[in-house]
Amino acid sequence: MINILDQNTINKIAAGEVIERPMSIVKELVENSLDANATNITVEIKNGGISYIRVTDNGDGIDKDEVRKAYMRHATSKLLTSEDLEGIMTLGFRGEALSTIAAVTETEMVTKKRDSLTGVRYMINGGKEIEFSEAGAPDGTTIISKNIFFNTPARLKFLKTSVTEGSYINDLMIRISLSHPSISFRLISNGKTVLSTSGNGKVKDTIYGIYGRDISNNLLPVDHTSDGIKISGYIGKPFISKGNRSFENYFVNGRYITNVVIAKAIEEAYKTRIMQHKFPFTALFFQMDPTMCDVNIHPTKKEFKYYNEKALFSATFHAVSDALSEREYMPGFNISE
Ligand code: ADP
Ligand code: MG
Repeated sequence: MINILDQNTINKIAAGEVIERPMSIVKELVENSLDANATNITVEIKNGGISYIRVTDNGDGIDKDEVRKAYMRHATSKLLTSEDLEGIMTLGFRGEALSTIAAVTETEMVTKKRDSLTGVRYMINGGKEIEFSEAGAPDGTTIISKNIFFNTPARLKFLKTSVTEGSYINDLMIRISLSHPSISFRLISNGKTVLSTSGNGKVKDTIYGIYGRDISNNLLPVDHTSDGIKISGYIGKPFISKGNRSFENYFVNGRYITNVVIAKAIEEAYKTRIMQHKFPFTALFFQMDPTMCDVNIHPTKKEFKYYNEKALFSATFHAVSDALSEREYMPGFNISE
């Protein structure tokens, strides 16, 4: 016998592609907050996000009459026709996140638009509506998502420890907040604030909010343009390097990426100044012609390719070594550190 699957089952199956782990939920929710013009985004997690995730924003909110619709599959306010796909400016557009999150977690949304008097509370567990009611609420949207994969035990088994899952969320929040210095982010994990950025638009202050004073007091500014590649941001003085690559942050046209050519060029520029198997701190922002770039935007991979690897290597190398050597000519500079 051939059955047509009901929508809830379809959503549960589809969820595997969009929502792989707690970090995917945080990513989708924070991107929604950014798309909703929020300037303040707080993420709170417990047990690495496995038991609890809450994302609060001060963005546009959702109209009472549209809340249920937002949770339907392929429901989006960001795309009207297929022609719109060409010039998409928002992070989301598939209209899949909320429906899939609702399918695999116990979810609650409280949302209010600025011009509405009251907000809405909407609760869904595993795709089943539990409550829809009017509620007092601040402007913006809060989404709580509890007990990921509670109804798909096979998927639950594939999660790592709460420490590891939490570190994925931490890495994600570092990248998102670094690339949005004008937005204030906060990450609270098991009641402790682990990241808090001011949102004042300054990259250096953002680095302070993420990494603290030891890093932000030991930065060298980068500003270099060659071959149509503009590189700005900061690198760390050699002595604040680390035994792994977790200090490396590069963004191309605002998007976090990984790229071996950039990594190699940075390594080369630091080579004589850093011990072997140590990696420097970098927060580098590349601007280049997007039509010459190829970013694999699969949710889990960010491998970036540029059509002219030689130019990319050279620009990166010079950007970093210029920043490093400027420091050496600075009067009163203490080389022994
Ligand atoms: P997409 O982001 O691809 O449009 P989602 O399932 O993530 O799809 O969200 C569905 C819709 O719900 C969005 O298009 C948007 O209109 C609304 N929405 C989701 N999150 C928020 C939020 N934090 N603030 C305002 N609107 C939101
Ligand atoms: Mg979305």
